[in-house]
Amino acid sequence: MITRRVEDLGAFGGAPAFAEPLPVGQLYVPDWDKAEAVFREIFRRRYFTNHGPLVRELDKRLAAYLEVGHAVCVTNGTVALMVALKALDLRGEVIVPAFTFPATVQSLTWAGLTPVFCDVDPATHNITADLAGPLVTDRTTAILGVHVWGRACDPDGLEALCAKRGLALLYDAAHGIDCTYRGRRIGGFGKVETFSFHATKVFSAAEGGCLTTNDDALADRIRAVRNFHLTEGKANVSLRINGKMTEAQAAMGLLALDDLPRNVAHNSSIWNVYRKRAADWRGVRFVDTAGGERSNFQYAVLEVDPANCPLQRDTLYRLLRTENVLARRYFMPGVHRTPPYCDEFRGVLPVTDSLCARLLQLPVGAAVTTDSASTICDLVQFYLENSEEIIQRMRQAGGQQDS
Ligand SMILES: *Cc1c(COP(=O)(O)O)cnc(C)c1O
Repeated sequence: MITRRVEDLGAFGGAPAFAEPLPVGQLYVPDWDKAEAVFREIFRRRYFTNHGPLVRELDKRLAAYLEVGHAVCVTNGTVALMVALKALDLRGEVIVPAFTFPATVQSLTWAGLTPVFCDVDPATHNITADLAGPLVTDRTTAILGVHVWGRACDPDGLEALCAKRGLALLYDAAHGIDCTYRGRRIGGFGKVETFSFHATKVFSAAEGGCLTTNDDALADRIRAVRNFHLTEGKANVSLRINGKMTEAQAAMGLLALDDLPRNVAHNSSIWNVYRKRAADWRGVRFVDTAGGERSNFQYAVLEVDPANCPLQRDTLYRLLRTENVLARRYFMPGVHRTPPYCDEFRGVLPVTDSLCARLLQLPVGAAVTTDSASTICDLVQFYLENSEEIIQRMRQAGGQQDS
């Protein structure tokens, strides 16, 4: 560990510990020569979109990888959700967490549905059948679960609840690629699951996404909704959109699929550094993966207990950012506190609010090494050990620390 003094911290005018910013987003970059070769082929064919050979190959390879009947690639994860909701022809109310990325809920509004916010379990950060059950009304038509941090969102409980109440179950699996539940890969749960291939995700096509299902008829409807034109898919759907993935995205996706095991292993090595070191930090819980399941280790999540940690979550966040450690506070604010939902929401989501105030995500992914993770841990440890002096100095600096 490098010896540090409080006055030398980035927060008090010292040079940041890292010259380059370390993001939480994965920012995977494929091998340049391989990328050049596939892009040359796209240019040679002059076939850029409309279900080209690379999109068809990616659909096939993803279905095999995720051990599911159909994978249908689309423009991005948000469109994947919108397409899923239209393909299911849902009406009325859909139960959804507010502890998620805003797109999960916004897709419901775009599809003309009413989101009904469900609080989450403090241990798993996911909605459960016990929490969702009391929210079911005669207007409810579906439950949209989110596998937060790649941990499966109560598939057994929610399947049983949906079967009993005649609801459709679907999942936002944007965090869930390469993760399992009882040994089965995420992708085959509920009626349909949706993935995001955004550049910040562990599987990146720069932008992109897909829908997965084991239901042949639903897959036909998904393919129909994906294309505004009647030529694709004869399924009788109420509304279509342009959700087609391009060949350039599929090229990136195919390269990312080849590299996925290596990228997950890289994440895992960084994640394990944080996990081991965080065990010694007072008032900090490292959010573990589900025991015995596969994870993509995409998010290293700390839960900072305001009553026991010597520093508040937001103080740690600000201190780290001054060292070029671009930690995040997902998912703050909860979606129920964002427009347009905040105007109408009258309920209470105590666990969601508490998590939004407590969680901190540390950098993982292609730009991070185990050495930089160790340095980040050294910093956090130094902050915690010198909390009183740090707080005092921050007070002296006054409002400057609030920016
Ligand atoms: C990233 C993300 C999305 C949105 O996916 P895009 O591909 O960026 O549209 C939706 N839900 C969750 C949980 C996400 O993390």
